[in-house]
Amino acid sequence: MTVVQKYGGSSVATTEKIARIAERVAKRAEKDKVVVVVSAMGDTTDELISMAKSLTKIPDERELDKLLATGEQVSSALMAMALHKLGVKAVSLTGGQAGVITESKAGKARIRKVESKRLKEELAKGNVVIVAGFQGITENSGWAEITTLGRGGSDTTAVALAAALNADACEIYTDVEGVYTADPRVEPAARKMKTISYEEMLELAGQGARVMHSRAVELGQIYGVDILVAHSLKDAPGTLITREDHEMNSQNAEMEIRNPVRGIAHDTDVTRITIVGVPDKPGVAAKLFKALSDAGISVDVIVQNVSVAGKTDLSFTVADEDLEKTKKIIAPIDKDIEAADVITDSVLAKVSVVGSGMKTSPGYASTMFAALAAEGINIYSITTSEIRITCLVERDKIKAAVRALHKAFELEKA
Ligand code: ASP
Ligand code: MG
Repeated sequence: MTVVQKYGGSSVATTEKIARIAERVAKRAEKDKVVVVVSAMGDTTDELISMAKSLTKIPDERELDKLLATGEQVSSALMAMALHKLGVKAVSLTGGQAGVITESKAGKARIRKVESKRLKEELAKGNVVIVAGFQGITENSGWAEITTLGRGGSDTTAVALAAALNADACEIYTDVEGVYTADPRVEPAARKMKTISYEEMLELAGQGARVMHSRAVELGQIYGVDILVAHSLKDAPGTLITREDHEMNSQNAEMEIRNPVRGIAHDTDVTRITIVGVPDKPGVAAKLFKALSDAGISVDVIVQNVSVAGKTDLSFTVADEDLEKTKKIIAPIDKDIEAADVITDSVLAKVSVVGSGMKTSPGYASTMFAALAAEGINIYSITTSEIRITCLVERDKIKAAVRALHKAFELEKA
């Protein structure tokens, strides 16, 4: 069988750790064809970003991509050497060499296709193939550029390669044992889930559960790749991200009584931006959000107030790291629409309740609001999807919010 394994940054943080992982890979390679996707060692990516930012506040995007892509190139080459030391045939490839072709958007490029010829040839030669995660190249006629897939993007590399190779398994190895009902560092009673649907995982990942890159889950869903998330060193069973019906089958007895709420996600990496005195007329929001989306900035928790005298307030959240870029983009638009003011709030955080069972049974919003109120936690904005309710709360109350909700929805009980 063919397996794609991905090891996260903390699992390959030192050469000693790389050597340990190499031993695991070597064992697996005795019976299977193995493709290994690696993240950069430890906090390398953060360090590279701060080096760039020490030179300029907004680094050139092309150069930043080129810089960040080196992190995974280092860990992949070292992993290949560690395997050689064990007498295992191995070759490391950059994303581009592995045929990962992306759109030409710097910083958050999406994979467009994987040209798997080289990968297949290397596997056929008996190599373990180590691929630098988080990166690809553009397919411009002319010069191909190195691109990166967004923070945490090595997961996406792994799922894309698994899909392209029609692999029998896609295993994401990390420093946690799987997907939990809440971040166990915040809520010690959080439980590891055996399975979770793509849909629910997408909502959790999109709302701050750091286990998996959203795009990876999306690709898994599109191409039907079952994704196992497990600890890189412990032999504990992990969490399988799969189709909803598969999930039901594998849970059988649990199915009927299953809690409609599956998990609580939280995210402190949000800044709320409020544009005050926006003219209430067609096209204003479109203009603003088009400019942000063209710049690759993801926007969330969009709230527009009831307008008074033809003016309204519009607020939305972006990741902290996108704040400077966002301000730069909206400044000319604010001027154009004669907005009265722009207020930024970096003291808030998001907390979300997620579960596909919420679709069919109402009442979850009131339980959520009551649980927060009981803790004296004020709600600043609310948004919902079919299977999620998200509240903005004060950042220094986020842990209390997570714990209160975990308890209110009885998530410790399965
Ligand atoms: N090294 C990149 C990051 O830290 C990609 C990854 O780890 O998946 O975001
Ligand atoms: Mg990383």
